[in-house]
Amino acid sequence: MDDAAFVPVPSILPQDGRFGSGPTRIRPEQISALAHAPLGTSHRARPVIELVGQVRTQLAELLKVPEGYEIALGNGGASLMWEALTFSLVRERAAHAVCGEFGGKFAALTDAAPHLGESIIHRAEPGQWVGVNGADDADTLAFAHNETSTGMLSPLDPVGEHDADQLVVVDATSIAGAVSVDLAGIDVYYFSAQKALGSDGGLWFAALSPAAIERIERVTRERWVPPMLNLATALNNSRKDQTYNTPAIATLALLAGQLDYLIERGGLAAAEAHCRGLSESLYIWAEGHDRAAPFVAEPRHRSPVVATIDLFEVDADEVRAELAARAGIVDIAPYRSLGRNQIRIGCYPSVDAADVAALIEWLDWALAR
Ligand SMILES: *Cc1c(COP(=O)(O)O)cnc(C)c1O
Repeated sequence: MDDAAFVPVPSILPQDGRFGSGPTRIRPEQISALAHAPLGTSHRARPVIELVGQVRTQLAELLKVPEGYEIALGNGGASLMWEALTFSLVRERAAHAVCGEFGGKFAALTDAAPHLGESIIHRAEPGQWVGVNGADDADTLAFAHNETSTGMLSPLDPVGEHDADQLVVVDATSIAGAVSVDLAGIDVYYFSAQKALGSDGGLWFAALSPAAIERIERVTRERWVPPMLNLATALNNSRKDQTYNTPAIATLALLAGQLDYLIERGGLAAAEAHCRGLSESLYIWAEGHDRAAPFVAEPRHRSPVVATIDLFEVDADEVRAELAARAGIVDIAPYRSLGRNQIRIGCYPSVDAADVAALIEWLDWALAR
C-alpha cells in the first residue's frame, strides 16, 4: 500500500487556479468592462485622453505621491524603462543592488552603455538581500522593491545617507499597488501593469520626483536620446494625458478598473493586509512541512506578493503537473533561470484567500504522495 492511500484527495478546488507571478489573473469584472472601453480609438481623441487622465489621477491617489511628483507613462513596459533611464536619467554612472534576474538586467544595461561609466554592482546570492550604498560614487542608485525572480522584498529605504543629486530609482513592477509606500526619498518609482496591478502588459508607469524631472530635462537636453527612450518626451505627453505613440488601450482600461477596485477597497493598506494574509499562510504552511521551506530565509525579506517555496524529496515539476491535471492549478513554476526545485505563487490583490487555502490543501496532498 503506498502513502497516497492515507491522504484523501481534497474536496475543494480553487475557483480560479491561476497563481502566476506575472502576468497575473485579471478579474472577470475588468474584462467585461472592456466592452465599454475606447478600443480602436486614436490616442489624440478625447475618450483615450480621458482614460489616460483617469489612470494618472488614480495612480497619484493610490500611491499618495508627494507634492510635486508627476505620473508619466509610455509604451514598452518596465524593460523599456530600464533603457529609458539609461539614456534619459543616468548622468555618468549608476550603482545597483542586484538580488535576482530583473535587477541584474538593468545593471547590465547601464554597465554596457557606451555613454556611461562602468556601473557599481552589489550582488546578492539568490534568496539573499543586498542594498545599494549612498557612499557609492554614482549619480543614480537603483534597486528592485520586489525581486520577482526570487521573491525577495527590499526595504524601500536601504540607501542611507546620500547626496541630494544621487537619485533613487526603484523597480516596483511586481509590487506597486499591493503594499503601502512612502515615496518621499524615492525619485523614480516605476512599474508595468500586468503584475500586482492585475492588468495587461505593454506599458510602463512612473512616479517622478521634482529632482528626477529636473535631471531628465537636463540630461535629455545635453545628450541625443532616441525618442522612444526620451523621458522628457514621455513626460510632456503625459502632462497632456497622452502618450508619444499609440498606447495599449486595453491595458489602460483594465488598469482603470483595477485601480477603482483597489481604491474602493481601502487603498494600499487594505491591499497589503490582503496580500500579506495570502503569502503568510503559504510561508507558515511551508515552515510547518518537512518537505517544504520558504526560499528566502530572512522573514523580513520574504515577499508579501511572490511566495517562493523550495520543495524537498519530491520533484517540483511532478507536483506542478499533478496539481494542473487534477485541480487546474497553473503558473506556479519558479523563475526559469533560478533552476531550483521550487514553486512560486503570486499573492496579489486579485487572488482570493479561499483559492490560496485550496492550493495549500492540494500541496499537502501532493507532497504526501
Ligand atoms: C516583470 C518584471 C519586469 C519586466 O516587465 P515588462 O513589463 O515585461 O518589461 C521588470 N522588473 C520586474 C521586477 C519584474 O517583475
